[in-house]
Amino acid sequence: MPETKAKMTCPCCGAELVCHAEKPVKPTCAEEAMEADPGLGAVIKEIHTCPNCGTAELRRGG
Ligand SMILES: [Zn+2]
Repeated sequence: MPETKAKMTCPCCGAELVCHAEKPVKPTCAEEAMEADPGLGAVIKEIHTCPNCGTAELRRGG
């Protein structure tokens, strides 16, 4: 099974971010609302954190 998810790097220090959770987030724009899970009424976002400096980034999951 090929690896399809690109790695994310920290915008602050350039270290490789670690994905450690996913959470539903309320859509904040029409584009996100179209992609939201109809059951949840939210889009799933991955939470990536930097093991070096602790910066957290969200990325759309799925
Ligand atoms: Zn960092």
